[in-house]
Amino acid sequence: MALRIETRGFDLVLRNARIVDGSNSPWYRGDVGVRDGSVVFVGTLPPDTETATEIDAAERVLAPGFIDMHTHNDFLLLKEPASVPKLKQGVTTVMVGQCGISAAPITPEKVALLESYTGFIMAGALPLWNWRSFGEYLDVLGGMELGVNVGSFVGHGTIRLNVLGFEDRTPSSGELAAMRGHARRAMEEGAFGMTSGLVYAPGVYSAPEEVREIAKGLVERRGLYLSHMRSESDDVVASVRETIAVAENLGIPGQVLHHKACGRRNRGRVRETMRLLEEARERGVDMTADQYPYAAGSTTLRSILPPWIHEGGVEKLIERLSGLALRERLKREIPEAEGWENMLRNSGGPEGVMMLYCPKTPDFEGKRLTEIGAMTGKDPLDAAFDIIIENRGSDTACFFQLAEEDVQFVMKHPLVMVASDSIPPAPGAKCHPRTNGTFPRVLGKYVREEKTLRLEEAVWKMSGFPAARLGLSKKGLIREGMDADLVLFDPETVVDGATFEDPFGEPKGISHVFVAGRLAVKNGEYTGAAAGKVLRKV
Ligand SMILES: [Zn+2]
Repeated sequence: MALRIETRGFDLVLRNARIVDGSNSPWYRGDVGVRDGSVVFVGTLPPDTETATEIDAAERVLAPGFIDMHTHNDFLLLKEPASVPKLKQGVTTVMVGQCGISAAPITPEKVALLESYTGFIMAGALPLWNWRSFGEYLDVLGGMELGVNVGSFVGHGTIRLNVLGFEDRTPSSGELAAMRGHARRAMEEGAFGMTSGLVYAPGVYSAPEEVREIAKGLVERRGLYLSHMRSESDDVVASVRETIAVAENLGIPGQVLHHKACGRRNRGRVRETMRLLEEARERGVDMTADQYPYAAGSTTLRSILPPWIHEGGVEKLIERLSGLALRERLKREIPEAEGWENMLRNSGGPEGVMMLYCPKTPDFEGKRLTEIGAMTGKDPLDAAFDIIIENRGSDTACFFQLAEEDVQFVMKHPLVMVASDSIPPAPGAKCHPRTNGTFPRVLGKYVREEKTLRLEEAVWKMSGFPAARLGLSKKGLIREGMDADLVLFDPETVVDGATFEDPFGEPKGISHVFVAGRLAVKNGEYTGAAAGKVLRKV
């Protein structure tokens, strides 16, 4: 055995690592040999082993490259295919096409509509729209110098937009058949499944039966159905039931996206929803969930206002919001208003809302509404209305709507994997820190500091678990024959650098990242390697 290894030599040898192999087994000490992009040896190598490159892991942790199941990098990949912020977190595979939103398929006459639908994830990319089918989009990605591997889901919203535009109505049977056909074709062309975003137009216009009819296009290839559900607050339990019903009805696997229960009054309800997923599995329904490791979500500050005030668009809204009498009424009503996803109430009032991005009033970035009130001598809600007006609605705020205890309960659950739900910021804008911090944060805060997860468990939730979910039989584990997507980190120092105040802070403690055996990050810096490939479901 040893002789065979010595004579053949390796492209890369990593020695003296604590191998956390992605299977949730306890770490073990060992060496790993890589050749032609694959792990070909795991064990103890003789000292004189021939290799092009040798790295002494010096007791650091060697893990499979992380798989980010949930990103919105569909267009960012066209502009920044290297995906350096992902690589620096140890991520070697990203999935796109999430929350109902995919870049394909697209018919020529619907390009403008899709462009407006996807504007908030465009990140300054100027797509050439030189694709039509789902497969052609994957081909375009395949022609880029990808730093990470990329797979995609097809978005239900995108499919609906192709057939119905932004129309709020029930589709005819012909239209349903057309949408189902889109889903089936996307699966044939390499999609890993279909996602829905039932809070966003046009997904929000779809009845549960419609989604189920379209998801029939996934059945033949056992595509995964993933949902950004209709409600993540007061109706979260009904929404989880709705998601399970799609999978149960069609006999396909299902996944609840970025699972949480927002709002103080819904604290603890994730215990109920997770029990629903457990019960579904007991009767043979293949359900899982994913989660980002933060107690806050982010969206525009306008979302603190009731739905009726948005009618007619942002300009109309600003006009209304300038009226003194209306402001007084809103200040009285909003804090306790019911019947809509009230982000202010969900966040426990102005103290739970922090501005991330408001370019016309930059002094307020990183400040909570209560602080801004104190800075300006205004009522915090008046200050909020003024921010909306001055920034003409182009702002991002984050909302601390979750109990830390619930975040940790969901994280610990064996049916939940880690995923970032990263949304790339527009040029000059700020974003939620999950974009640049998710994976090192789990390892630093939730493994080392809080001890919410064991190290092996956390690595599994970022590698072996999502790989199995996607059917990526060569990824997610350190075993002979697997792809050499690897990350080397120091468990004593690994930490996220991204915060709500500085979402671009870089992680620390992740020294080396390999994609297909090629060194993509060395001592924390990107090397220029572009070894990523497009993944298609087989
Ligand atoms: Zn989502």
